[in-house]
Amino acid sequence: MEITVLGTASIGGVPEWDCTCPNCAAARMNHDLRRTRSSIAVTVDGDKHILFDAGHDVKVQLEQHELTPRPKAVGETFRESRLDSVFLTHGHADHTVGLAEFCTGKSFEIPVYAPPDLIDFLFGTDDEPNYFGDLGRLSKNYVLPVKLNEDKAVIRLGEVEVIGFEVPHTQVMESGRRYPSTTYAYEINHKDKRLIYAPDLGQLNEKVLSRLKGADVFLMDATFWWDDELNRVSGIPVTSYQLGHVPQEEAVELLKDVDVGRVVYTHFNHTNPVLNPSEPYGEKVKEMGQEIAHDGMKILLD
Ligand SMILES: [Zn+2]
Ligand SMILES: [Zn+2]
Ligand SMILES: [Zn+2]
Repeated sequence: MEITVLGTASIGGVPEWDCTCPNCAAARMNHDLRRTRSSIAVTVDGDKHILFDAGHDVKVQLEQHELTPRPKAVGETFRESRLDSVFLTHGHADHTVGLAEFCTGKSFEIPVYAPPDLIDFLFGTDDEPNYFGDLGRLSKNYVLPVKLNEDKAVIRLGEVEVIGFEVPHTQVMESGRRYPSTTYAYEINHKDKRLIYAPDLGQLNEKVLSRLKGADVFLMDATFWWDDELNRVSGIPVTSYQLGHVPQEEAVELLKDVDVGRVVYTHFNHTNPVLNPSEPYGEKVKEMGQEIAHDGMKILLD
């Protein structure tokens, strides 16, 4: 299978619209340093793709990476969906708001798989629809919401197996409810190859580490380098752990001895100093044999 990393940033992208920190200023000058919100597309033959997360940039990403209708395939309607299905990790905006893009034109009823509480949060019911449930009749005509239970294997494209499993990330309310939803990481299997996609991850706990054993690629949350990064750079007194992200500084150490083919970081916040080539952190990642993803990166697993 081939994985295209469509986007590699956290919620604000790089640059953020209201920021001129060193990383944002550099990205405004040099377009190669820009990052769109995290998302990947998986295909086996280049025809149809499985999309993981749909954030603010989904339309630009589909255009940029040519997941667009092909004149020869569209017939008289001029319409074609290159998306086989969508899997959502959790309810934060950078992973979900792009669904709004699909409420145009022809109805493809694209299956949208997500943790059951996320389907409720986004779509509601026929009688009491939530925002996406009513948005241009999105869930009535254009997408098909599917509640996906943890550990249930789904086969798409005839041969790709997708399994969601819960990971810590979103806020846990007193009632035990995850707000706005549970968070899944996804295990994506094709033949004897396995990719784990965890763009938002609050702990590298035993459950996650045991899933990683023997995986070929781990695409991992690198929102912040330091735990106190938001305070250091933006003067916001909240930590990486409080926001549900393992600081990359710790992940780099924790993952260096784990039995995984490749560790590839994604979901960068604009503040992460690893994005600044004049800082030493990118080199440190490289020295550990780990990688920094970029928008448009291709990962081939044959
Ligand atoms: Zn996120
Ligand atoms: Zn910035
Ligand atoms: Zn999140």
